[in-house]
Amino acid sequence: YRAWEVKKVRTTCSYCGVGCQMYLLVKDDKVVGVEPCFSEPNKGLMCVKGRFAYNFINHRDRLKKPLIKKNGEFVEVEWDEALDYVASRLKKIKDEYGSDSIAGFASARCTNEDNYMFQKFMRAVIGTNNVDHCARLCHATTVTGLATTFGSGAMTNSIGELEKADCIFIIGSNTTETHPVTATYIKRAKLNGAKIIVADPREIELTKGADVFMQLKPGTNVALLNAMMNVIIEEGLEDKKFIEERCENFEELVEIVKQYTPEKVEEITGVKAELIKEAARLYAMSEKSSIVYSMGITQHSSGVEHVYSVANLAMLCGKIGKEGCGVNPLRGQNNVQGACDMGCLPDVFPGYQKVFVKENLEKFEGAWGVKLSDKVGLTVPEVFKAAHDGKVKALYIMGENPMVSDPDIKHVEEALNSLEFLVVQDIFLTDTAKLADVVLPAASFAEKDGTFTNSERRVQRVRRAINSVGEAREDWRIIKELMIRLGYECSLNSSKDVMEEISKLTPQYRGIDYERIEEKGLQWPVLDKNHSGTPILHVEKFARGKGLFKPAHYKAAAETPDSEYPLILTTGRVLYHYHTMTMTGKNEGLMNIVGEPFVEINPMNASKLGIKDGEMVEVTSRRGSVKVRAKVTERIEEDVVFMPFHFKEANTLTNTALDEVTKEPELKVCTVRINRL
Ligand code: SF4
Repeated sequence: YRAWEVKKVRTTCSYCGVGCQMYLLVKDDKVVGVEPCFSEPNKGLMCVKGRFAYNFINHRDRLKKPLIKKNGEFVEVEWDEALDYVASRLKKIKDEYGSDSIAGFASARCTNEDNYMFQKFMRAVIGTNNVDHCARLCHATTVTGLATTFGSGAMTNSIGELEKADCIFIIGSNTTETHPVTATYIKRAKLNGAKIIVADPREIELTKGADVFMQLKPGTNVALLNAMMNVIIEEGLEDKKFIEERCENFEELVEIVKQYTPEKVEEITGVKAELIKEAARLYAMSEKSSIVYSMGITQHSSGVEHVYSVANLAMLCGKIGKEGCGVNPLRGQNNVQGACDMGCLPDVFPGYQKVFVKENLEKFEGAWGVKLSDKVGLTVPEVFKAAHDGKVKALYIMGENPMVSDPDIKHVEEALNSLEFLVVQDIFLTDTAKLADVVLPAASFAEKDGTFTNSERRVQRVRRAINSVGEAREDWRIIKELMIRLGYECSLNSSKDVMEEISKLTPQYRGIDYERIEEKGLQWPVLDKNHSGTPILHVEKFARGKGLFKPAHYKAAAETPDSEYPLILTTGRVLYHYHTMTMTGKNEGLMNIVGEPFVEINPMNASKLGIKDGEMVEVTSRRGSVKVRAKVTERIEEDVVFMPFHFKEANTLTNTALDEVTKEPELKVCTVRINRL
């Protein structure tokens, strides 16, 4: 398109948590292209998804009218009918069974404004804290783990700082495929001379340039990290001044990690003791050492202890509160940080203010003008269990697709089918929406104003580029309509109004307004209207005062291989798809590259089972059985197999074992067997 033919609208990518700034190119009220923007955090870079997979916006399959299921079939209805029906069913269920019989899932793909309104609806109008979202599946362990050790459960430093690091330790993050622009900063650091350490069960793209690659068995990260700390303390490489002045509980850490010699941990992890020692020395002795992690750390039945261990290592070496250092969990989805910030979690109001603390309760009761519940609500896995048990009767899902994303799909399906009433609000008729009683068509990111908060806590603008497709509506406006129908006055008339209310009630967002983030986003905490944001957390002191060492012992995964299920299945992402593929699955180009599920298997295992590359195989776990194509590859070590979770086959097999503290499921480890077909 020639420049004069298109309107350019600056916005934020709707895919991963990097939050790339970009222009949507609009012609005849349709998005016809994307160009990167030369601004933080991507500075002109973008990946294949953000740059080319925009055709979902005007795709023919977009939901255009509300749907109500009548006699088992969806029927298109007018908005008034759909909203009246939803309001009346929710009211009836609330009156009959009480507020806690209703639950809601918010969305890491919706704006802060949408999410704020959703949790306000659940709390102030429905009267329950049963509100959660997919952070439960990815970084719930980070939110709790880093809040416990540091006082704030977010990425400590900025994405762009990675290129200034002297050493980057990437553990449990296939960064090139999951957060491609972040990986570019890591590669630039490498070109600048930084040392790269990778710990991962698979050979990932970043292992090619790694100085140390530790191919560990899935689920053994705590042992590996303890062994690294063992070496650092043994060799006197810890930052004694930092520990003395800024941390507490060091003695307990020493006691525990001394039991994890590299030689002993070699047996647990499969990583040679010498490699562990080398990695420990590189990390401790480099001046600016940064840790990058993702769901290889978080999705375990001991996930919160994995996060503690990462935090312990960084504190031990004094790599917190400094440029080019830090603990940097990469948040998966475009607004998973924001959905957490907005209180779409069952124990906190916006800004991580606990629902059971009297002052917080009074503050929100005063602001919202209603009595609120101080009872911690149910997490996503607990909602499914409660639905199974008949305790949760109605579920409202805004922009999530648990029928693909959650572990043990059969269990999810049974739970959803046990409900008396299911509402799904989405842009497409997803696998989850197909099970709903009512489906409400939502506007995509290109059709709404608002903000997303990226992985580095940067609050950035989302701008309307086109009119809504069909009769789709912005998520927060749909919620507002329901609030009014259920008798709650709501005078918020624009996303800007919503942000004004957010900034009044959320300490981290106090200084944020649309004018201030017009050109460039701000990284929270933004303390007031003159404060310029916080690129690095914990500079003078930790958010909790002193950093807390939380040493942890290694615990094996809930399932370990046996004669019936001898292989470990681990799951992850591929570059070409996003989450449950509701958007990237509409892109022919991407589907041509990766269009079907597969299982990666080591040549030794393949040969023993008589499996050839490209053949169809059956993969079976205790939860189910699926047929997928085998990819025979050295990338994966013997007795471990990998499947991408974008396709529902992977989560047909995964385990619902939960981290005890955060209820995050163990999506990274379960056991399977494979048969030739
Ligand atoms: Fe950037 Fe992530 Fe979007 Fe790719 S998917 S363009 S890395 S925000």
